[in-house]
Amino acid sequence: MADEGLDVVVIGGGTGGYVAAIRGAQLGLKVAVVESDKLGGTCLHKGCIPSKALLRSAEVLAQTRSAQAFGVIASAVSFDLAAAMERKGNIVLQLHKGVEFLMKKYNVQVFPGYARVMGPSIFSPTAGAVRIQQADGQSQILSPRATIVASGSRPRALPGLAFDGVHVLSSDDALEISQLPASLLIIGGGAIGIEWASMMSDFGVDVTVVEALPRILAAEDADISAEMSRILKKRKIRVLTGARVDPASFKVQGDVCTLEVTTADKSETLTATQILVAVGREANVQDLGLEATGVVVERGVIQVDGSMRTAEKAIYAIGDVVGGLQLAHVAAHEGILAMEAIAGRNPDPLNYDQVPRCTYSRPEVASVGLTEAQARERGHEVKVGRFSFRAIGKALVQGDPDGFVKVVADAVSDDLLGVHILGAHATELISEAGLALVLSASPWEVAQSIHPHPTLSEALGEAVLAVEGLAIHG
Ligand code: NAD
Repeated sequence: MADEGLDVVVIGGGTGGYVAAIRGAQLGLKVAVVESDKLGGTCLHKGCIPSKALLRSAEVLAQTRSAQAFGVIASAVSFDLAAAMERKGNIVLQLHKGVEFLMKKYNVQVFPGYARVMGPSIFSPTAGAVRIQQADGQSQILSPRATIVASGSRPRALPGLAFDGVHVLSSDDALEISQLPASLLIIGGGAIGIEWASMMSDFGVDVTVVEALPRILAAEDADISAEMSRILKKRKIRVLTGARVDPASFKVQGDVCTLEVTTADKSETLTATQILVAVGREANVQDLGLEATGVVVERGVIQVDGSMRTAEKAIYAIGDVVGGLQLAHVAAHEGILAMEAIAGRNPDPLNYDQVPRCTYSRPEVASVGLTEAQARERGHEVKVGRFSFRAIGKALVQGDPDGFVKVVADAVSDDLLGVHILGAHATELISEAGLALVLSASPWEVAQSIHPHPTLSEALGEAVLAVEGLAIHG
């Protein structure tokens, strides 16, 4: 049956999809979401939320182990993976119920099933109609004015090293382990690789990270990568950069896996109980029926304009499926933008230079705007301010002296270009820098906002002053 009254169908109920649906409803549109698995998508069920729940367990464990330095005697500290997993599961469940409630609150119809876009049909003169395949074999056709594809992404496998869920894990598999491995070889030193390295090392697992590029967290400022590498090594995590793994050499011998790795100086055979492959995520563009439409897929992602509209007028796409920064908060904002465009509001395109990026390792990494190298590449004459958490009272009080804030600014225009933070609670501290960029504040203007004492935020207050050589405690 065709539903003629619908304005928008959103394919995928992940962070991008359900947020888009809510904004659509707020704008007075009649919206439906089609979801083949669970509302909440990767972020809620296989990504941000469960991984951060486990990272928090790791942090509590690490803090408890260092409690003596605070005068707190916690003897016989041990870790119960099952309890940490149960806590993670409960958080996910609670948030999942919250998303279901929001869909009801906003009268968003949720259709369980797998959706494919149809070409122009009798139901829809534009290529916006959607066929839903339900689990019971029934199918249904919806015929909205517009469709938003928000089908997300999945972990990318390394050719020749297929995920088996036992020896070779994806980040999805890692979230469901019932036993800690004695050792873990992580392929990929991006956000996922470094978060898992930090977490598993805190859980007592012997961790090695193998990164193909010359540095870990390669999207971050080079100073952040260098300091993070140093801290991980101090934590006894082995980090090999500029390293090439040979999938053909993979073997399982008894309880251990072996894999050959080549770096600039040598080749060696690494052994580990398990291997976690974290080499990026692939957009879910297959089997969506897009071939029957004018939608353009290039380099594995759907091509869109600044309103998130594809080459097919009635079809929009948002989130991981359009590539770029594959982050939940980006997907959510793209969803809002697409819905506002469909509602005829003519929204401004998203400024990707103003999107904060966060890695929830110990210590955390967060940044917004240009790295120093990117700023120079774009022709800016650059000035830099830097301030260490070691000189911040609250950081010492907290027992978190590692890390620094680096501010990149234009030496001529005085524009703030980027802020890079390595340290405890960096992912919370970055929002002030994000606001400063949105408001086009100069470093000096950021310094006019009084940073309360004693707080970790003083490090940003000092780093913006350091741009002019005026930091008080540095
Ligand atoms: P990524 O692209 O951030 O990092 C993958 C890394 O793997 C890269 O540094 C790459 O050079 C390396 N690599 C690729 N092939 C390799 C090989 N054969 N051998 C060794 N290294 C290899 O991808 P990710 O860490 O898998 O994360 C996927 C996406 O999810 C990213 O867009 C990321 O931003 C996002 N994510 C975000 C967060 C967060 O915001 N906290 C957390 C996890 C993931």
